[in-house]
This record gives sequence, structure tokens and C-alpha cells, in this order.
Amino acid sequence: MRTQVAIIGAGPAGLLLGQLLHKNGIDNVILERQTADYVLGRVRAGVIEQVTMDLLDEAGVGARMHQDGLIHDGVQICVDGVRHRLSFKELTGKSVMVYGQTEITKDLMDGRVAAVAPTVYSAQDVTLHDFFGDNPRVSYRAEGRGHEIACDFIAGCDGFHGISRKSVPPGLISAYERVYPLGWLGLLSDTPPVSEELIYVRHATGFALCSMRSPTRSRYYIQCSLAEDVEAWPDERFWEELKPRLDDEARDRLVTGPSIEKSIAPLRSFVAEPLRFGRLFLAGDAAHIVPPTGAKGLNLAASDVRYLSRALIEHYQEKSADGLEHYSARALARVWKAERFSWWMTMTLHRISDNPFDQKLQLAELDYLFRSPAAATAFAENYVGLPY
Ligand SMILES: Cc1cc2nc3c(=O)[nH]c(=O)nc-3n(C[C@H](O)[C@H](O)[C@H](O)COP(=O)(O)OP(=O)(O)OC[C@H]3O[C@@H](n4cnc5c(N)ncnc54)[C@H](O)[C@@H]3O)c2cc1C
Repeated sequence: MRTQVAIIGAGPAGLLLGQLLHKNGIDNVILERQTADYVLGRVRAGVIEQVTMDLLDEAGVGARMHQDGLIHDGVQICVDGVRHRLSFKELTGKSVMVYGQTEITKDLMDGRVAAVAPTVYSAQDVTLHDFFGDNPRVSYRAEGRGHEIACDFIAGCDGFHGISRKSVPPGLISAYERVYPLGWLGLLSDTPPVSEELIYVRHATGFALCSMRSPTRSRYYIQCSLAEDVEAWPDERFWEELKPRLDDEARDRLVTGPSIEKSIAPLRSFVAEPLRFGRLFLAGDAAHIVPPTGAKGLNLAASDVRYLSRALIEHYQEKSADGLEHYSARALARVWKAERFSWWMTMTLHRISDNPFDQKLQLAELDYLFRSPAAATAFAENYVGLPY
């Protein structure tokens, strides 16, 4: 088989890239290790920036998002039982949208089926060949047989544990990493959200987040240790741990109910540099990870795809190598700012250290955020997404 761009991974990065390339007449094949149902079942991100909405519209898959997504003009932060609101709309003129990653994935998958563009699910042993030469190839196994795809470029969109980044010779790639000593225990339930806006909670006993997927579906998180086993957290225990971290009004409004999903996510900051190796380009979680506190992971994947899709379109339509040459530097400049913001939110809202000095600094950071219009504007500007 031959294609122009072989895309590894059918997460948001791979599917969105495939759709944007297809819209511009560029052939591509997506190879995904898991089944489509497995990919659709992963409950992950929920907050998307205006620039990500624009990109989904550009890819022609934004209709359901506009119909079902919830526009949020602000966010609330509760510090030791006292809630504060920051209005994105007043501070930046912009908003964010709450629309689940599973829904975005479904819209992108449906768009791909409608475009009759090829996706190979359950592709095993995906291996990248000769990407430093002019004729890269990708081999894989499916339905018991070996296959090979010749292509012009390979897009490594296969997430943090994927094969693309690992295929780069170690001396050519640098990794920058911080692993936090905590995780998020998340619970999804068909109960009405406690608030119309997200509530980030900084509490002496640990972080919590009250989030939602729709007016009838809530997503709550509490900070937990990395040693926790999700099996040790029956729903009642989760709700009892969450309640004392909330303010009185939120506690009164909280509707508890049976979980429909529960999982623990470790928190990590990671960046690999550069993002280009000959004819291989890394995008999304394959290249970088942020802790979920700033809601940036999915948005950064979309941001990489924006730069990469434009660079590939420029290559094929205008015969210009400029976008491809600058892809890594342009994408990384945005990545590092989101890494900074996600790290700052993580360090400011979680109980990370038992040193009272660190806790006093957290409170000073938050007091400054609530009192200084300059600090609030900087926060809002980062949360809604920095301009390109
Ligand atoms: C548990 C969890 C919770 C999260 N919560 C949030 C949140 O609240 N907010 C937020 O913004 N972000 C969150 N994120 C991050 C966000 O989900 C990711 O940033 C986003 O999924 C990145 O998209 P991606 O396409 O780059 O990678 P992925 O979504 O990881 O997609 C990569 C795809 O590649 C496939 N793949 C892997 N290896 C191979 C291989 N060898 N061959 C073929 N295919 C392969 C995988 O199966 C997967 O489908 C969370 C992530 C996790 C893991």
C-alpha cells in the first residue's frame, strides 16, 4: 500500500490530523493498536479552548459540539472552603467549551467514515522504517498477516506509550520530565453537576475538582497517592472524601450517585525535543504530557496538529518546506507555555509538600490571583488558550 502520510494512532491528534489532511486532498492512512470501541471508551479530557473548537470546525466535525457542548465564561476556585470566580469573558473576551474527549473522538471517527478514509484498527507490531531517508515505510500485522505502507511522511500521534518516539535513536532526542508524587482519582456519574462552572478546590487535605460532561453527567476528581488502588475506593468512600473539601453551598448541592467509571491518573510533565526526525513528526501526547490540572493535554495535541497540518498542506500545495522546517520550534514554543501553566496550577492547588512554607506560598499565589486584575488576566489568558 502507498499513501502520502502514514499516521500512527487514532487518538484526537491522529484523527484530527487525518481529517484536516483529507479535507485538503492529502491521502493518509491511520494505524491504531486498539479497537475503535476501546479508543471510544477512554474517559479523559473535557475542556476545550476556542482554538481547538475552531480547528474541529475547520475539520468539518464541529456540529454536534456546538449543539451539545457547554460554553463556560468563567471558572471557580475554592480555597479552604471559600469560593472565588474568575470571569474569562470579562478578562479576555473569550470562553472555553466543555465537551468530552469521547464525544470529540466519536465525531472525528464518524467524519473519517463519511470521508471513506482508511483506518486500520487492531494493528499490531507497528514498526517505523527509514524515516531519515526519502522513502519511509511503516509495517504492521493485522488479521494474522504482515503489511507494509510506503509513504512520504510519518506522523507519530501514538500517545506517551507509543512506538514513534521510541523509534528515534536515543542520542537524537532530549527528554525533560517532572513526575509528581500524586494522582487524580476520577469518578463519572449520571448526576447533575454541583455547579454550572468547574470548581477547582485547594484544601488542606488535598486537591479536588468538580467538573461535568453535560447538565446530567458529572466528573469529580480528588487528589490521591500513587499507591492507591481504585478497587479500594467504593463510591461511598469517594463521596465522603470529596465532601469536606467543598464549600458549604457546593456540599449542600452535591448529588451523589453510582459511578459509571472510576480511574486513577498519575500526574506528569514531560517534553521531548525536537519534534521532527527526518520524515517523522511527533504530535500530541507522543511528544509531551501535562498534568490535567490546566486542561491542556487535548488542546496541545490539537495545537500541534494545527501546525503540522498547515505545514504538510504547504508542502503539497505550495511546494514549500518552510512549515515543515519550522514545525518543531513553533509547536514547542506553545507547548512550553502550556507546560508552565499546567505545572503552576498543579503546584498551587495540590497538597504536594508538608512544609508549611510551601503551603503559605500557595495561599499567597492564590490571594494575589484573586486581588490583582493583572494576575487574573494572565491566568484567564492561559486557561482559554494562548493565541497562535
Ligand atoms: C487518564 C487520563 C486523563 C486525562 N484527563 C485529561 C483532562 O482532564 N484534560 C485534558 O486536557 N487532558 C487530559 N488527559 C490528556 C488527554 O487525554 C491527552 O492529552 C489526549 O488524549 C492526547 O491525544 P493524543 O491523540 O496525542 O494521544 P492519545 O489520546 O493517547 O492517542 C494515542 C493513540 O495511539 C494509539 N497507540 C499507542 N501505541 C500505538 C502503537 N504502537 N501503534 C498504533 N497505535 C498506537 C493509542 O491506542 C491511542 O489510541 C488525560 C489523559 C489520561 C491518560
